[in-house]
Amino acid sequence: MAARIQALQGDITTLEVDAIVNAANSSLLGGGGVDGAIHRAAGPELLAQCRTLGGCEVGEAKLTPGYQLPARAIIHTVGPVWSGGLEREPEKLAQCYRACLDLAAGEGLARIAFPCISTGVYGYPKRPAATLAVGVVRDVLAQTPQIQQVLFCCYSAADLALYEELLDSGA
Ligand code: ADP
Repeated sequence: MAARIQALQGDITTLEVDAIVNAANSSLLGGGGVDGAIHRAAGPELLAQCRTLGGCEVGEAKLTPGYQLPARAIIHTVGPVWSGGLEREPEKLAQCYRACLDLAAGEGLARIAFPCISTGVYGYPKRPAATLAVGVVRDVLAQTPQIQQVLFCCYSAADLALYEELLDSGA
């Protein structure tokens, strides 16, 4: 049986899952990094839909269809900007992962892929972010049988190595 939590290296816009998560900004109107890639791949209908959603707070999650993506749906969340760790960034990042998983479970989206939220332009240090992501996903999955699989979609080989280390060690 395939592991319920897996890491892989790749472009999240190519994944055939029930939902991919977008590390968006609070306007939900597109940006750089993974957000820009998702908007380009999903097509202009995504931006039109996002305009109706009224933005998104840090730690919240909002749902759209996947449009031209192979994924059925997109869960948009807004991670915290890293400001040295004194602005409750870990709590806010944990809330992002929880909100996305709660939304997925409620919508019957059983296979979901996450990017490394907040670790690009938002500057969250990679190891603490990955450790927190793995920990929160493990906790939530233990209580959420509706979710069959979570993929951590790493863009870089270094991120993949980090997630594999964390998943292997059970830490
Ligand atoms: P944030 O503003 O939340 O930091 P970024 O998009 O700048 O968001 O970066 C988040 C993560 O997404 C980074 O690890 C970055 O390498 C990764 N990333 C960028 N493009 C893609 C993509 N197409 N697929 C998966 N991950 C991506």
